[in-house]
Amino acid sequence: MSLIIQKFGGTSVADLERIRNVAKRVAKTYDQGNDVVVILSAMAGVTDDLIDLASQVSNSPSKRELDVLLSTGEQTTAALLAITLTDMNYPALSLLGHQAKVVTDCTFGDARIIEIGTEYIKDLLEKRNILVVAGFQGCDIKGNITTLGRGGSDTTAVAIASALKADLCEIYTDVDGIYSADPNICEKARKIDKISYDEMLNMASLGAKVLQIRSVGFAKKYNVPVHVRSSFSEEEGTMVVSEDAGMESLIVSAVTHDKDQARITLKRVQDQPGVAAKIFLPIAEAGIIVDMIIQNTRAQGQTDLTFTVPKKDFQAAMEIERKVANEIGAVDVLGDKNIAKVSVVGVGMKNHSGVASIMFNTLSRENINIIMISTSEIRISCAIEEKYTELAVRVLHTAFGLDEED
Ligand code: ADP
Ligand code: ASP
Ligand code: MG
Repeated sequence: MSLIIQKFGGTSVADLERIRNVAKRVAKTYDQGNDVVVILSAMAGVTDDLIDLASQVSNSPSKRELDVLLSTGEQTTAALLAITLTDMNYPALSLLGHQAKVVTDCTFGDARIIEIGTEYIKDLLEKRNILVVAGFQGCDIKGNITTLGRGGSDTTAVAIASALKADLCEIYTDVDGIYSADPNICEKARKIDKISYDEMLNMASLGAKVLQIRSVGFAKKYNVPVHVRSSFSEEEGTMVVSEDAGMESLIVSAVTHDKDQARITLKRVQDQPGVAAKIFLPIAEAGIIVDMIIQNTRAQGQTDLTFTVPKKDFQAAMEIERKVANEIGAVDVLGDKNIAKVSVVGVGMKNHSGVASIMFNTLSRENINIIMISTSEIRISCAIEEKYTELAVRVLHTAFGLDEED
C-alpha cells in the first residue's frame, strides 16, 4: 500500500463530466489499497474570470480581497469532487487550504508555503478517508487566506507530498508529459520519459508552465518523485527525478517560450554611476521582477536602458519609470507589451560553443528580429515580437535536431 498524491489541473476538472472521470481515477487508485490525497485546481478559465470580475469593480483591487475571491475557484471543485466521490460511496472529505494546514507567508497573490501541519490529515488518512484538498491556497499565521501565484496548485501538491512523505506525486494535466517544447505549438516536440529536477527548473523558469517553478524547487529540495501525465489517457507520462548517470545530456534539450513579457525603455539616460540603481530600486520595492536588461551607449554620455517585466506588472512599472525619468532627466519612457521570450535550454551547453550563432542564424533566416538577448551557461534567451513566438519555437526545435522523427 502506498500514499499517492494526485493533482488535477483546470482542464481536467473543467466540467462535471470531467470531474466524474477524475472521481473514477481516484476511486480506482483507492480500490487498489492506496491512500489518496487529491489536490484540485479551479475549473479552466475560472481564475481568469474571477480576476476579470474584480477588475470591473476596481482598477487596483485589494490583494487580500483578491485572494479571498480567487480561492473560491478551488473551493468549488474540491467540494464538487468530494460530493461526487461520496455519491459513489467513497468516504471523501474536502479540505480548504487552512483546513489542510497549509501555512504561508503573508504575500497575497504570491505567497510561499512555510509549513504544512500533517497531524489532522494523517489522522483522516488512517481512517481510510479520501482527502480532496483545494490547491493554490493557504493561510498566513493571522488566518488570512492567501494564494500561491498562478499555477500554484502544482506547488500545493508537491508540498503536501513532501510533508506527508508520499510515495508518489502525480500531476494530471492536458498533455501526456513534459516535451522538448510546448506540444500545443510544436507538433514535432518529443516526449521526455525522465527529466532531472534541474533541467525542469530551467524549463519552468523560462516559461514551460506545465509545472509551476516553485513546485519543482520543492520537489528537488525534498526529493519528491513527480509523475506528469494526462488525465485523459492511461499512458505513462514523464518522471521528474534527481539526476542519474544514465540520463542523456543533450547540448540543447528543449526550446521554451514565455509570452508573459513586456518591455520598458528609458531614452537618453545619463551614463553615470548610480543611475541604474535609481531606475531599478523603486521597481524592486514594488515587488516587480525584472528579467532581461540591456543598455545601449549613445553619444554625449547618454544611454538607452531597456528591461522586461511580467505583463501583469507593466502598467505599474511604467508609472514608476515615468516618475524616475522626471527625476533623472531621461528624455522619454517607451513601453511594449507585444514581446515574447524564446529560449534554448540544456545543461550540455556548458561545454559547447556555437549554440548562440545557430540560434541567431535560425531566427534571422525567418526574418525574426532579436530585440534583446540574455545568456547563462545553460541557456540562451532572445526577446522577439510576440507574433513570431510559435514560428521561432518550431524553427529552433528543428535547428537543434530535436524534432520527433515521423
Ligand atoms: P494545468 O491546468 O493542468 O495545470 P497548465 O496549462 O498549467 O495545465 O500546463 C499544461 C500546459 O503546459 C500544456 O497544455 C502545454 O501547453 C504547456 N506546456 C508548455 N511547455 C510545455 C512542455 N515543454 N511540455 C509540456 N507542456 C508544456
Ligand atoms: N487556479 C489557479 C490558476 O489558474 C491555480 C492553478 O490552476 O494551479 O492559476
Ligand atoms: Mg498549471
